[in-house]
Amino acid sequence: MPKPLVLVTRQMLPEALELLAESTEVEVWPDEYPPSPERLRELLADKTGALINIMDRLDGPTMAAAPYLKVISQLGVGVDHIDLPEATRRGILVGNTPGVLAKCTADLAFSLLMCAARRVSESDRWVRNQEWQLAFHPMGWLGIDVHNSTLGIIGMGEIGQEMVRRANGFDMKVVYFSRTRKPELEDKYGIEYTDLPTLLTTADFVSLHFPLTPETRHFIGEAELRMMKPTSVLINAARGPVVDSKALYTALKERWIYAAGLDVTEPEPIATDDPLLTLNNIVITPHIGSAAIPTRRDTMFLAIRNLVAGLKGERLEACANLELYRTLGI
Ligand code: NAP
Repeated sequence: MPKPLVLVTRQMLPEALELLAESTEVEVWPDEYPPSPERLRELLADKTGALINIMDRLDGPTMAAAPYLKVISQLGVGVDHIDLPEATRRGILVGNTPGVLAKCTADLAFSLLMCAARRVSESDRWVRNQEWQLAFHPMGWLGIDVHNSTLGIIGMGEIGQEMVRRANGFDMKVVYFSRTRKPELEDKYGIEYTDLPTLLTTADFVSLHFPLTPETRHFIGEAELRMMKPTSVLINAARGPVVDSKALYTALKERWIYAAGLDVTEPEPIATDDPLLTLNNIVITPHIGSAAIPTRRDTMFLAIRNLVAGLKGERLEACANLELYRTLGI
């Protein structure tokens, strides 16, 4: 029997592709940049599986151009670039990769928190610009303390919980707001549930760890930023559009808040003339939350196992449209 045809939209580790090639006929898009929407449709016309990433938009018209598509396997957790209801309607399973990248992403979010609080990027730029003339001044480069502060986590899922563990190591108090209250985690970690206004008005650090959905777009806007303390820091390692970036610019410029750390922006890459880039009290990384070698390897292997399972008509290790199992009888 011929092997199913699959598209992999970006180069991967050779050992990951070798595993995929054992049970499928693989076509790898060779460019560093993603295929255009038109090219993606052409590439998917004869494929039964696709291993994609955040830069590949799988919308209704793209799925319509892929009549044989049975599985979309996302390399990552967020599936906001995939039209999930449309995939479900068409009987296409959508896999994603929870469980393997939460620690890595929390490491990065926590490092943004520390960099923003202690002005690491800003002072590094200053040194490289050869502005370090005076060795030390008691009033120079003052930042804010991380230890003994209060971290407010919004979205207490996998990454949110990893942030709690890191915060515990820094003697921080943790408060959280999430869609669902989690008494078992409150007991386990000694964290406190608060409503959103209380979290925003009391936390020294506000860190966002919930998905981008139509409801969470611009979840943090002018009203929320105005509630935060002038000494507080906003961290976003979730998705760019959950923060209103125009409001964030004003908040940072006018010092409604002290600083921000972003791993995600709107759009990505950030526009070269985005006013956020003119500010010193923000640190921005280019969506590298899960970009560490062992984590990326684990993520690739999980995405491949999801793809192969779905093509065999089996349940995926992680599926974003579980409701389809019943329709497919698996
Ligand atoms: P997760 O385990 O699914 O946790 C998300 C949490 O957010 C859940 O606890 C969830 O609900 C809560 N939530 C959902 N909607 C909410 C709302 N409207 N208000 C408040 N809380 C809400 O996901 P995760 O693995 O922690 O990842 C979170 C997000 O991070 C992903 O969706 C992805 O977009 C992003 N991410 C970014 C990177 C990166 O490289 N920067 C890497 C991985 C993931 P409950 O309270 O009901 O549990």
